[in-house]
Amino acid sequence: MPNKEKKESWPLVGNENITEFLSKHIKNNTVYGSYIFCGPEDLGKKTLAYHFAEVLLCQRKKTSGSEACGACPSCRKFSNRGDDDNGLRIAHSDLYVIDKEDDKKNISIVQVRELIKKLSLSSFLDSYKIGIIRNAETLSTEAANALLKTLEEPRNKVVVILITGEAEALPQTIISRSRILKFGLVKTDVIYEYLVDEYKASRSAAKNFSHLAAGRPALALKFFQDKTYYDEHIVQAETFLNFFRSDLNNRFLAIENIIGKKNKGQESVERARDILGAWRSIARDLLLIKFNQRDLINNEVMKKELESVNPGVKTLAIIRAANSIRRAEQYIRANMNPKLALEQVAVSI
Ligand SMILES: [Zn+2]
Repeated sequence: MPNKEKKESWPLVGNENITEFLSKHIKNNTVYGSYIFCGPEDLGKKTLAYHFAEVLLCQRKKTSGSEACGACPSCRKFSNRGDDDNGLRIAHSDLYVIDKEDDKKNISIVQVRELIKKLSLSSFLDSYKIGIIRNAETLSTEAANALLKTLEEPRNKVVVILITGEAEALPQTIISRSRILKFGLVKTDVIYEYLVDEYKASRSAAKNFSHLAAGRPALALKFFQDKTYYDEHIVQAETFLNFFRSDLNNRFLAIENIIGKKNKGQESVERARDILGAWRSIARDLLLIKFNQRDLINNEVMKKELESVNPGVKTLAIIRAANSIRRAEQYIRANMNPKLALEQVAVSI
């Protein structure tokens, strides 16, 4: 993706300080043994972690030192990744990714031991060995302790990247041995430009999606590229709006419809997160309307529905709902059944 102004072709929108920081580490040969990428969902943490790994592992780094060549055997493994969003299946002998397994509560010590073992094998080409730990906040205590031992005795050319929504949930001992990189929300107009320049989105589509994404470029892109995902967002948002004019029974039925039959496992957790995200943005917009800040609303595309619900709902009720959404997000992180978590929002209205 050519971009005339960008010096580096790192795949991150906004948060330029992080890109600069990491590419400087590569150029100056001061790469740390452990990084924590933290921040809300859909800011590009995972994509950046893979890219950082790709550059580190590239066998013919360009002269600038912080660009992958895109053509060497190592780089080709990254580009062959295809649509596997999960990334767990990249067949690269020097990159290991672990994540919480479906239906499990934690990342287990067995998974971490396996990771450590692979990181400690010497590399054929004396290249880096990189471990990526996704949803790092779910490391079990034993798993975190095992990892800590590795971080305490850093080895040359071994890098661990922990990706998490909340760094505070990691043990202090791990935090203190890592460089924390905090990903922040990105300005709407930066996301807008990104969709128009890099993806040739129409101005109206870019406007709609950049607003809906509320600071998250990866989410804007998902809306733009995946019509089904976007349609689902609208349905989820409408469901929440309808909560304010239906009885509890119907709210429960509506939840059953949007969460789907399979309401266990990682898939349903992610779905519930999306749903709560849509609900959160509607609650926010309703409040903005109450406070006459209509130009700031995200769900511009649902303005009519928002305005029609607005007169019948009290400000306090919206605040109560917004609080219960926040609680539901915490419950889900603490492994509550996703459907139950959504239902407690319906009860709060
Ligand atoms: Zn390369």
